[in-house]
Amino acid sequence: MPNHNGGRLKRGILAGGASITINILLLGIATDAEAQTQPPEIGTATVGTATKAEALAPTKQKPPQIDQQLTGPRTRVSGTWVGHQSVPASTPILVMAGHADSQAMHGAGTPGAAVDLHGAAPMDPRMRDELYWNRLVRDAVVSNGQLRGLNIKAYDPGTLSIPNAEDPRTNWSVARRQSTKGDYILEIHFDAYSPYGFGSGLIPAVNRMPNRLDESLAISFGRFPRLFRGGLGGPRRGISILEIGMLEGKLETSLRDPKTRKATIQSIAHRISQSLAMGMMMPSKASNQQPGEAGIAPRAMNPQTNSEVE
Ligand SMILES: [Zn+2]
Repeated sequence: MPNHNGGRLKRGILAGGASITINILLLGIATDAEAQTQPPEIGTATVGTATKAEALAPTKQKPPQIDQQLTGPRTRVSGTWVGHQSVPASTPILVMAGHADSQAMHGAGTPGAAVDLHGAAPMDPRMRDELYWNRLVRDAVVSNGQLRGLNIKAYDPGTLSIPNAEDPRTNWSVARRQSTKGDYILEIHFDAYSPYGFGSGLIPAVNRMPNRLDESLAISFGRFPRLFRGGLGGPRRGISILEIGMLEGKLETSLRDPKTRKATIQSIAHRISQSLAMGMMMPSKASNQQPGEAGIAPRAMNPQTNSEVE
């Protein structure tokens, strides 16, 4: 696919001089955020739509406590990348469910420990449990993000199995098209249970430099190496993969228990949409930039990396 962003990327390289102060500020934000052991409580979001979000929150139910422990350990292999590239607040965010088009075929996702190890019935016989949860989290992230005023929507391929990856309806095809247009593509996953899984964390898209949305999600969930397993198919097509956690233990139990399911999904979705909103807000000192430069990559990047997808 032709690279329509070439001109913008070149300007990004030229804008490199303005980046140093911003990068230092960003590093400061990252350090502070990582120092927090507990993320902010639900309902205290600083975004202007918080009141609307609170108004629509279930009235009887106590807001779910965001519990870092819920999602288990962070990835046991971690990356060192930092997402510096600023993201304009109007950037479209497209949220996908991992394995949504790959059921009953290679790459169907993890069945989870309950089904695979403990003999539980799948949540939905048509699909692996991972996809069942990926879809619920995807939709909750979109609802939550829209309440925050994010330009966010879901994508679903509309059918559970599409054997040809080049079919225009697959997550990969849509991601390749939309990321070329500048959309941020986030694909929700749960990792395999131990000892096969790695833990929670973000694997950023590799057809562009890591940006502040990647950074914010990595601060919240953990950071996989940028070229995890040599660069996965999704990231090469512009998808940032978010592993919520290994599908086992407390996380899986909380999801499967009908009494805690809704709160668990909401808790995860809140953490994701809050990370996205915070990533959008990261360029607080963008006034150092020249008019028209906001949102343009301040670091050198090679527009040719898009050819990796071919
Ligand atoms: Zn997955």
